[in-house]
Amino acid sequence: MSEDPYKELCQAMAQRGGPYPGMDIPEFYALAKELFLPDEAKVCASMPRRPSSLSQIASQMGWEERSLGEILEAMADKGLCGTAKGPQGETLYMALPFVPGIFEYQFMRGTATERDKRIARLIRDYKKAVEKRRGGLPKITFPLNRVIPVEKTIQAGTRVHTYQQVSSYIDRYEPISVSTCFCRHEAKLSEGSDCGKPNQVCMQFGDGARYVIERRMGREVTKKEAREILKRAEEAGLVHASINTQEIDFLCNCCPCHCMILKMALAQPRPALALQSGFEPRIDPDKCVSCGTCVERCPAKALALSQDVPEVDRDRCFGCGVCSSGCPSEAIELVEREGISPPPPDKRALKDALVKASSHQKEGQKG
Ligand code: SF4
Ligand code: SF4
Repeated sequence: MSEDPYKELCQAMAQRGGPYPGMDIPEFYALAKELFLPDEAKVCASMPRRPSSLSQIASQMGWEERSLGEILEAMADKGLCGTAKGPQGETLYMALPFVPGIFEYQFMRGTATERDKRIARLIRDYKKAVEKRRGGLPKITFPLNRVIPVEKTIQAGTRVHTYQQVSSYIDRYEPISVSTCFCRHEAKLSEGSDCGKPNQVCMQFGDGARYVIERRMGREVTKKEAREILKRAEEAGLVHASINTQEIDFLCNCCPCHCMILKMALAQPRPALALQSGFEPRIDPDKCVSCGTCVERCPAKALALSQDVPEVDRDRCFGCGVCSSGCPSEAIELVEREGISPPPPDKRALKDALVKASSHQKEGQKG
């Protein structure tokens, strides 16, 4: 391994993967040096991905526990590593990729210090440099994220699973927290870009919320406030999106102009295959007054008003229900979309599906 902690970090981040892995380019080092002190870079480069105790990491690195513990705690507070609770309530630490992980944690507090602005600009530069070298946004072989529809837009009598209802997470989980949308905040800090959509709308549930509250990256909200936040996000035409598993610990409320989840899906040849709720809109021609509101609201540009009633491009439609929630004539309802598999039950199953899809893709490329 190299003596330079930032070179070591670059190699480790390359192995951790994700859409923006470590890349040996000047933009990586400029960003890494702003985010990590040299000792933090060294620790991050040596940390295992699986959650590990302080004593495990200390013995693996040959470091003294007390000073290592201080570094790890400082890193967790800065969003440079993750923590979880072990079976005896002890703190476990884990390494994070840039995305999803370190990038998001930098902006969830919604602060706008000079350092925040520098980090936002450096992250923007790094993302652009990686995209340039890779020829665009990464290809999605299996959906890492999914959409959860606006519940009230689902046609009455439709079979709806618990995992397709945002309200079920609000009902079942405690605590619930809210934080700043890191995508919109990063864009605002790095380039002054602001689409005017609400920012305090990203939510976390259960352990996800506990973590965010403990690390002061967001604040706890009551169930009543959580429902009001959802309503605000829906009125603004934001898309409910989360990880592609049945149980979730966060809910983003995304705009197509800034949010990474939507932007990546929209860069695919058929966005509907990369991001999906399992529903699709059905438009009642007798109720439609051809006002075009749904066409304007659709975050996927999946609607076109070439005739009296908008047509849906099924290759683009996420099934989010944003068209329906804004229709003044209540002419749109979501119905079940055939042929969509249920999301993997948990993160382990999702990881297995991602590995399988990526090895199929590699075999396909060889053949
Ligand atoms: S918003 Fe409703 S009424 Fe207006 S074009 Fe769309 S479906 Fe028709
Ligand atoms: S047409 Fe657009 S707004 Fe309507 S469900 Fe599909 S993606 Fe969402």
